[in-house]
Amino acid sequence: MNIEKRRFDSLIIGAGGAGLRASLALSQSEARVAVVSKVFPTRSHTVAAQGGVNAALGNVTEDSWHWHMYDTVKGSDYLGDQDAIEYMCRTAPKVVVELEHYGVPFSRMDNGKIYQRPFGGQSRNFGGAQASRTCAAADRTGHAILHTLYQQNIQAKTHFFDEYFAIDLIKDDEGAILGAVVLNIATGEPLIIEAKTTLLATGGAGQIFRTTTNAHINTGDGMAMALRAGAPLQDMEFFQFHPTGIAGKGMLITEGARGEGGYLVNCDGERFMERYAPNAKDLASRDVVSRAIAIEVRDGRGCGPDKDHVMLKLDHLGEAVIKKRLPGIRDSCLTFKNLDPVSTPIPVYPTAHYTMGGIPTNRYGEVVVPERHGPEEPMIGLYAAGESACVSVHGGNRLGGNSLLDILVFGRASGHKVTDYLKENRHHRPLAQDSVDQAFERLLRWDKKGEGENVYDLKAELKKTMEEHCGVFRREDELAAGFEKVCVLEERLQDAVLSDHSKVFNTARIEAMELENLMDVALATVKSALERQESRGAHSRIDYPERDDKSWLKHSLYFKEGKTLDFKPVTLKPLSVETFPPKPRVY
Ligand SMILES: Cc1cc2nc3c(=O)[nH]c(=O)nc-3n(C[C@H](O)[C@H](O)[C@H](O)COP(=O)(O)OP(=O)(O)OC[C@H]3O[C@@H](n4cnc5c(N)ncnc54)[C@H](O)[C@@H]3O)c2cc1C
Repeated sequence: MNIEKRRFDSLIIGAGGAGLRASLALSQSEARVAVVSKVFPTRSHTVAAQGGVNAALGNVTEDSWHWHMYDTVKGSDYLGDQDAIEYMCRTAPKVVVELEHYGVPFSRMDNGKIYQRPFGGQSRNFGGAQASRTCAAADRTGHAILHTLYQQNIQAKTHFFDEYFAIDLIKDDEGAILGAVVLNIATGEPLIIEAKTTLLATGGAGQIFRTTTNAHINTGDGMAMALRAGAPLQDMEFFQFHPTGIAGKGMLITEGARGEGGYLVNCDGERFMERYAPNAKDLASRDVVSRAIAIEVRDGRGCGPDKDHVMLKLDHLGEAVIKKRLPGIRDSCLTFKNLDPVSTPIPVYPTAHYTMGGIPTNRYGEVVVPERHGPEEPMIGLYAAGESACVSVHGGNRLGGNSLLDILVFGRASGHKVTDYLKENRHHRPLAQDSVDQAFERLLRWDKKGEGENVYDLKAELKKTMEEHCGVFRREDELAAGFEKVCVLEERLQDAVLSDHSKVFNTARIEAMELENLMDVALATVKSALERQESRGAHSRIDYPERDDKSWLKHSLYFKEGKTLDFKPVTLKPLSVETFPPKPRVY
């Protein structure tokens, strides 16, 4: 088939905060940039981010990037790479001020400075009193950032392919990535986008779980594309369960609600976090709070007729504070639970939230392939940033407010790195037709109609399996059974069909391809969780309850071929300061 081709210097797949920050850096440097997004850019999931972005501005409490670095290393349960963490925390004030100058309408204090709220895991002076480090635009920070970045990109003349679905990367025999085959969702026409560099910024994969804060679009497409291109996925066993999802629904109640003074109670009205984290209490790290809620419910101290959730109290904050600082939270409660937090506590339970693992990159956004295939080297032409990548700054557990920071810092850094690459690599490599054909095959496969299992049922089964076998608490036998089940689901998907109706809609074909991607990401997650025989950060093994630095202070790397794992060391050496050596992690 003769497929239309377009050529750009650089292709960015994903128009969330990471993709748009990278494209802005590139467009401003005069590169010809194409941004492909399966939804209109300002509907990317960054728009949903509520609480804010961390930067040691010191507007509310005294602060320093070094304290921020300490909190992030500790929050990561010492699995984060300390060079990348230092870089992120040092760069944070600069990217936030840059955003302010681009026009992000941050909330203000009376003195005109950017408002900063306290978030979980933040401290002053290396573990001392609570810090206030999270820069907020009410509880709609992601919305403000994404819209501003989009407007800046329009001004910089970034070329957008809105509502195009990236099917697969194009790769030549030397392993260089040459762009991607994409699908125009409205017309069903495929398109080849040739580029000297390709950046994956496709966000997280919360859709592998049934109850999640993530939108339907968060299907880990970039992670699966990277796997198919031969890259591994790093640290996939670390999936963050946010403590305060609306019970039974999953929608997020931002940590900012506890930052503003909200707190959790069990059925006895007890502020139970005082038992689990005597100092930080409700603002302990997310993994700690999620486990505490799960234990309260397990031990019969849950609320409601089924005793299956706890309560988040905001009613003591007063109407004025809730309306000014948490208006979106109030809306969500009214819409999804028909309750007003001004007067009624919110029923909450942990919900799947954030993919700490992802495509392994260095701090310039280059995708690095580990030693198993020779010395660790960047893949030619392939970059990744944002939630789809693993730099790794979050390690075993991400701190609230550090993800918006990650997408901005490393989106920007990868944009700059690509700019340098383009200066040295002026020509396109010849297109690899075999690779194009292979990508196209993925699409054609879903034109098949007739009898067979239904894609939607398989998706529901996958999400249920992951929730039951790979949740907040994990155990060897359950993980092993979960892995087997997902392997069987993967096989069943080979024979599945869309429908036996005469017309197959593009949205249905896309959902099927997304399910293939989810399957790969789920396999990586459950297999990595099965292999890691310790408890660290969000990975909590009932059968191995302790952290084991002797055997497990290392990153896992999952490869699609053979569904096998490899490991690589954690970078404990920062760029300019002393290492924070692993210590027991208490809040
Ligand atoms: C409800 C919620 C609240 C949050 N609040 C905060 C917060 O307060 N602070 C914080 O630091 N973090 C927060 N986070 C986390 C943070 O928002 C995300 O980690 C971050 O925004 C991810 O940005 P991204 O650019 O990596 O991906 P996204 O914003 O998810 O963008 C992904 C992009 O990839 C595109 N895409 C994906 N697959 C394809 C494909 N196959 N073809 C074409 N395009 C594709 C999508 O269309 C989209 O444009 C929150 C997360 C959630 C879910």
